Amino acid sequence: MSLESWIREDVVIEEKPKKKREFGNKGKLKLKGVFLVSADYDPNMKKVFLKFYDPSKEEIYIWHDPFGHHPYCYSKERPEELRKKPEISENERIMDIITEEKIDPITDKKIIVSKIIASDPLAIGGTRSSLRERMRLWEADIKYYINYIFDLGLQVGVPYDVDGDSIRISEVEIDERVMKLAERALKDEAMRDKYLKWLRILSSKTPRYKRVSFDLEVYVEEEVIPSPSEAKYPILAASFYGSDGLKLVLINDMGRNLSPDEFKGKEYQVKIFKDEKKMIEEIFSILTRYPFVITFNGDSFDLPYLYHRALNLGFHKEEIPIKLGRNDARIIKGIHIDLYKFFFNKSVKIYAFKNRYETISLEEISEALLGKGKVKVKKLISELSPATLAEYSFTDGKLTYELTSFNNDLVMRLITVIARISNMTIDDVCRLSVSNWIKNRIMQMHRERGVLIPLREEIKLKGERRFSEPITKGKKYIGAVVVRPKPGVFFDVYVMDFASLYPSILKQFNISYETVNCPHERCKDNLIPGTGHWCCRLKKGIMSEFVGIIRDLRVNIFKKLAKDKSIPEEDRRFYDVIQGALKVIINASYGVFGSDSFQFYYLPAAESVTLIGRRIITETINYCKKLGLEVLYGDTDSLFIRSPEEEKLRELINFVKEKFNLDLEIDKIYRYVAFSMRKKNYFGVLTNGQVDVKGLVGKKRNTPELIKNAFFRSLEVLKNVKTASEFEKAKEKVKEIYFEAEDRIRKRKFTLEEIAISTVLGKSLEEYTATTPEHVKAAKLLQATRGRVVKPGEIIRYIKTRGRLGVKPIEGESESLIREVDTRKYIELLRSTFDQLLDAIGVDLEKEKGREWNRLESFM
Ligand SMILES: [Zn+2]
Repeated sequence: MSLESWIREDVVIEEKPKKKREFGNKGKLKLKGVFLVSADYDPNMKKVFLKFYDPSKEEIYIWHDPFGHHPYCYSKERPEELRKKPEISENERIMDIITEEKIDPITDKKIIVSKIIASDPLAIGGTRSSLRERMRLWEADIKYYINYIFDLGLQVGVPYDVDGDSIRISEVEIDERVMKLAERALKDEAMRDKYLKWLRILSSKTPRYKRVSFDLEVYVEEEVIPSPSEAKYPILAASFYGSDGLKLVLINDMGRNLSPDEFKGKEYQVKIFKDEKKMIEEIFSILTRYPFVITFNGDSFDLPYLYHRALNLGFHKEEIPIKLGRNDARIIKGIHIDLYKFFFNKSVKIYAFKNRYETISLEEISEALLGKGKVKVKKLISELSPATLAEYSFTDGKLTYELTSFNNDLVMRLITVIARISNMTIDDVCRLSVSNWIKNRIMQMHRERGVLIPLREEIKLKGERRFSEPITKGKKYIGAVVVRPKPGVFFDVYVMDFASLYPSILKQFNISYETVNCPHERCKDNLIPGTGHWCCRLKKGIMSEFVGIIRDLRVNIFKKLAKDKSIPEEDRRFYDVIQGALKVIINASYGVFGSDSFQFYYLPAAESVTLIGRRIITETINYCKKLGLEVLYGDTDSLFIRSPEEEKLRELINFVKEKFNLDLEIDKIYRYVAFSMRKKNYFGVLTNGQVDVKGLVGKKRNTPELIKNAFFRSLEVLKNVKTASEFEKAKEKVKEIYFEAEDRIRKRKFTLEEIAISTVLGKSLEEYTATTPEHVKAAKLLQATRGRVVKPGEIIRYIKTRGRLGVKPIEGESESLIREVDTRKYIELLRSTFDQLLDAIGVDLEKEKGREWNRLESFM
């Protein structure tokens, strides 16, 4: 099928009168138990609007601000001075300047600031002529709808009762079991209300979300990549998978006179369209019927393509239910969740899904989390038979949906709970990083306390004096303590872990950018041990309070409930989602605070945390010595102890609890562990047989099969070791495996599949401007020689070759390509894969090499 045979005449674009988009709900809203899920700014009405989701009617309701709230920002200049400035006096969008009292967090003094009120958020920020670009302002980079949420004290993700202009959080009963565990925390008068507020926020059950997944397939021609902004080629198919049972594929006939019979006996319904415009109308109609739309990569492909394709076919902007932003694509009335962005989130990947997937592709994530993958096709999408295309598209849509529904809607619930903790809209939670989640909540805490959010440079001006020299190059302050490992092999090793060490320190020592080296004379003798920094006695630090509460809620309440077998399964699962979301935030919190790109970063605060941490670990190690426990190795917040007696371990745990009020826990037990001679590498086998290698390179999915196989065979050998003499034999076997693999590479005894490297394309090809990584080179070649369309998120398979480019895609190639393989590079790859493992078990390749050669020579 060619495009020409289908396009018989140019598309005629009808002229239509332009009309303003009908937006919002007419009349007075009266709703009960509807969840606040999102907010945005409506430029036509010049108002913020909120989106409420009603789980009983399964609909989104729009509520526009009735209070005449306006965008604003702060200046430290007096109103009369500001009014003299042309950028203010000549700006018609500046409505008023009033004064307001705020607390300056750096000096802890009341100050009078000017509040500049505007009729349009763009007057403050967002364009080159905005005020923000022309004068020094405070709180001018907070999105307007976020400001609105802060000012009205709204809470995202919880149920509301709406009655016309009035919106109020629905009464939520806190579970008795939660209250019981919270008892101790609630005794603290100063914190009582804060804890209760958090318990209420987290306690309400998450709603069932009516939703549909959506996937688009687009015609592709040789040597052309379909650019979403051009949208030159027709849409071939669209698939939908809904929580209400909808299973539908729309197919573009493309002049083929398809018969419905071709799609008989499938689990999904197929609708054939002779007219692409009609098909797009149908897509729009389905997308607007569902409050939530789920895609995989819809922000950068499916929705922008659909949008521009519709424009090309003569739709008016107002008829398209999509709003394109700079980096996202939103659905006008509902909510669009792009799973690509959500799973891409580092903290989600590491802490919520324990690195079970590595690359961000629908294929890999589905395989890892659902245990199934896409329909495999070898041809261009345009060359597939209609039935295969339908199957392919449907499967994509189904997997996308199931990623939100597996494990009792885990992902949807996780998103909801994170929205609650960060008080961020669901659209933003899915797209932004954990550092933004935390920053959002911290900003709101400033607003609640009447504290002016400081500029970065104001915090920096407090000074950057430090009391330790950074050891790692490029770091600004000293890292965590590391006890050099004892080289060798050790059996029966316990790893003891300080439960959330850094968050506990932040909490206990009241560490925050404004409390470390605070302005009060009275606090200056309250020194942080091991530093010359002092800490505030008078006020609770904002960061300290936030992390402290999150940690307490997790450790004292929700983690306990999630494990409590006496609780009904359904409730337990809910508590598990909450503790999981809290864990994501906790585990990421110190990384966020300790990074100089964070808005509230303060070097002495970050340094204090690591110094206190080092002190705690060092003192604990000293105590181990006293007890006669042998510490083999120590990292950030864990200690490796050799065959400890139970009694002594208990004593150690008590010591840590009494001395530092911290929980030391048994994290894992190694049957044996091998430490490297040179670096801080180790290799271990847990008592359950699981293998642990620090920085396991061979696990990476883009490692070629041949190398991966050799690596895993080696692990298998090491896994079964029970005694020291078995270990020596295993070492010999691993060497054998290694040299056999090297030999095969050198002699080219392999298939293309065995040495292919798979890497996911993270962005569209045009976006790689600064550097061109290998897989991008291969993707470009694929595009140039085979006209393959490469979408972001797709896996590129290539080999390393000799020659200028150094790579070649293997798609459609024959085994004769093996001649071009650069064996030297593969041997390097094999080495680097094995390097850490061999080092850890005490094999020196250089020495072995010499031996190997001697053996060969004597043989010849
Ligand atoms: Zn103080």
